[in-house]
Amino acid sequence: YAKKNSRGKYEFYNPGILNALRKRLELEMDLRHAVKRNEFTLHYQPQIDLKAGRVVGSEALIRWIHPVRGVISPGVFIPMAEELGLIEEIGEWVLRTACRQTKQWNEQGYPFNVSVNLSPRQLVQENLVTLVQSVLLDADLPAERLQLEITETAGADLFVMSQKLQALEELGVSISIDDFGTGYNSLNYLKQLPLSQLKIDQSFIRGNRHDQHDVALVRMIVALANELDLQVVAEGVETVEHVQFLKQTNCALAQGYLFARPLTAERLIEQLETINVQISETVMP
Ligand code: C2E
Ligand code: MG
Ligand code: MG
Ligand code: MG
Repeated sequence: YAKKNSRGKYEFYNPGILNALRKRLELEMDLRHAVKRNEFTLHYQPQIDLKAGRVVGSEALIRWIHPVRGVISPGVFIPMAEELGLIEEIGEWVLRTACRQTKQWNEQGYPFNVSVNLSPRQLVQENLVTLVQSVLLDADLPAERLQLEITETAGADLFVMSQKLQALEELGVSISIDDFGTGYNSLNYLKQLPLSQLKIDQSFIRGNRHDQHDVALVRMIVALANELDLQVVAEGVETVEHVQFLKQTNCALAQGYLFARPLTAERLIEQLETINVQISETVMP
């Protein structure tokens, strides 16, 4: 409610606004302690090789299990963590946890890769390259197993970024551009950065039953990636029709609710057999 006062200005009487503000402040306070209180966990969403018809890795996706409010999604707290200067610490935890888990899977006979999301602030973090190197050493994970996903950001210095990414590639890590096609500078990123993978944003995939433009765009992105020798991953694959379409376009990898939602490490292994059956029924014929 906004009510006009005697001088014609609006005053807010809605306690909802104050409540929302207080909630946000509390959440920010809690976030400062979440790492040392062990409140984060990673879920892993399987990535499927559409030609081989099997799970070849996963994307690590962070969750915050708040002691009072339950599961909070990264869409809510990652931007907060960036603003509060907490993303470096959280990002390091994600990297360590994902690499250790993947090493463990490798040792158990699952030859998985892992994709880890980097926030723009981590990319300008001074020690990022040495950090990644030491995390890989500590986890004893071959660098070739790790993909780092970056996103387009306004105002990024592509020259500085390319040097940092180059150093990461020299370690053996590969770089993936996430949510491709949604930014305004996508082609410059392709041109200037040492990338090995491109993830087509899910908005193009999920819409494609209804929108001829999306179909054309996905075809174009896959063709472009093939031309540039980049691996392509389709995100947001939810239906069998999506898979058929992606196979037609020669898209290499797929990720989405059709195959599996992001799962805890334990659940992923428990469900692997079921997921593989699902793949053989939808992808292989
Ligand atoms: P993203 O990296 O583009 O991740 C894909 C998001 O799409 C995930 O949401 C995933 O759960 C969701 N998704 C996967 N398949 C489907 C599908 O078939 N349909 C639909 N509707 N959604 C699908 P989530 O886990 O909520 O993550 C949201 C975003 O938060 C991520 O987008 C990423 O940008 C960010 N994020 C997640 N984990 C981390 C992290 O550890 N570090 C950083 N910096 N960012 C993270
Ligand atoms: Mg991602
Ligand atoms: Mg994405
Ligand atoms: Mg995203």
